[in-house]
Amino acid sequence: MKMPILVLGVVVLAAGLGTWGYLYSMNIHHTIQLGGLGLGVLGAIMAIGGAMMKTVSVGATKGAGQFSCAKCGAKFGSEVALTQHTKDKHGM
Ligand SMILES: [Zn+2]
Repeated sequence: MKMPILVLGVVVLAAGLGTWGYLYSMNIHHTIQLGGLGLGVLGAIMAIGGAMMKTVSVGATKGAGQFSCAKCGAKFGSEVALTQHTKDKHGM
């Protein structure tokens, strides 16, 4: 769900700007030009939204299941494993 929104946003942005540029070069009525520009803006919003969602998702995935030992920096998948390690290796 993350990448497609970003890709779709970029595609819509490119299509919108392309449409706007084409209509502008053809000197077609202003209202129709703004329609193409609006499509470009919509695409930009979708791309930004998709990128932000991706960043949040990656951050959440990275943060989950990462418990590092304060003494030696060893990483564990669960707090129980970290507690066990701390007890065994550092006597705490
Ligand atoms: Zn340790």
